[in-house]
Amino acid sequence: MKKSILSIIALLLTATFSFAQAQNNKKTPESTEVWDPAVRIIQAGDQPGAAPSDAIILFDGKNLDQWVAVNGGGPSKWTVKDNAVTVSPRSGDMKTKLEFGDFQLHVEWRTPAEVDPKVTGQGRGNSGIFLQERYEVQVLDNYENVTYSNGQAGSIYKQSMPLVNACKKPGEWQTYDIIFTAPRFNKEGRVLLPAYVTVIHNGVVVQNHTTLWGPTEYIGLPVNKPYEKGPIRLQDHGNTTSFRNIWIREL
Ligand code: MG
Repeated sequence: MKKSILSIIALLLTATFSFAQAQNNKKTPESTEVWDPAVRIIQAGDQPGAAPSDAIILFDGKNLDQWVAVNGGGPSKWTVKDNAVTVSPRSGDMKTKLEFGDFQLHVEWRTPAEVDPKVTGQGRGNSGIFLQERYEVQVLDNYENVTYSNGQAGSIYKQSMPLVNACKKPGEWQTYDIIFTAPRFNKEGRVLLPAYVTVIHNGVVVQNHTTLWGPTEYIGLPVNKPYEKGPIRLQDHGNTTSFRNIWIREL
């Protein structure tokens, strides 16, 4: 009995395979070409890190028109100078006025050149980039400065350590290129697909399609609650870390 079932399955598989092959034999190379829609044409930046033509410029070094203070919602009190914006410690975080779903984000950042040797770990140039105001890509001076692995530069704070430490010296400009896929929820608010993030630090992949289990929590484990879009939020952690050339492309 078992044998006959197996031979029926084998027969069916052979028939399916032969049918697929017969179908393939009828096709031409052109039958698998896609012409419509055509690929949208944009202008790439003229150097690495430069914004392409379809990017939304979030900060071009001149003003904070795209940003608001998280405390109170008025203008941010961070300092704009020499094409950069620097955290005004204890003025609070700032966030974009616009909200985003899936995106590619470019951010350049610099931790203070002057380092107090007495200050170590999380105290050196700490800031952060909160994707959709929820998931912190850590900004920290980890050049010859040790802290917990899932809290250092390039980590998804308290969720995922970076693959390597690609930090430059304090006072040098560094880059993050972040590709983010937002989570999808069903009508009941349960996660259908979690969020994913890829982070490239100074040209080096430090997060490779990392799964995000929920918003960053300082204490305890993340809890995923349904939402749609969210802003980009930059953290005031009491250090004078600077940012420049921030742009985003919705995907
Ligand atoms: Mg931080």
